[in-house]
Amino acid sequence: MRPMGRDYVEETIRSGKLRGPDRTCPYYPCHREGHDCTWCFCPFYPCLDESKGGLWVKNSQTGKTVWSCKGCEWIHEPKIAERVLAELLKVRNKPGAPNRSQLLRILRRISEEDRGK
Ligand code: SF4
Repeated sequence: MRPMGRDYVEETIRSGKLRGPDRTCPYYPCHREGHDCTWCFCPFYPCLDESKGGLWVKNSQTGKTVWSCKGCEWIHEPKIAERVLAELLKVRNKPGAPNRSQLLRILRRISEEDRGK
């Protein structure tokens, strides 16, 4: 997770609240009307899971390949945003949490639930 993203995610976990659609944001709606903005900085970044809508792209300025989340609506679905917050609240008091392996387990669990497994 990027440092700015980590601060944002930690602040969201501290607040324990979903943000919902943030119509005050100058970029709203960056995905679609009514989406949930809680995980604008995704705690799973980079998930490397193309089934979510993310993909590798070449940065036009640096030429480096980066993970782009532009096509991901999954994390912005209200029921998914709520599930992610609930899972992160469960681990928030554990030292060093959420670490990368906890995050990937959470991502896998919610993805499986979402697919009805
Ligand atoms: S593709 Fe979606 S779930 Fe994956 S890191 Fe990007 S925003 Fe998060």
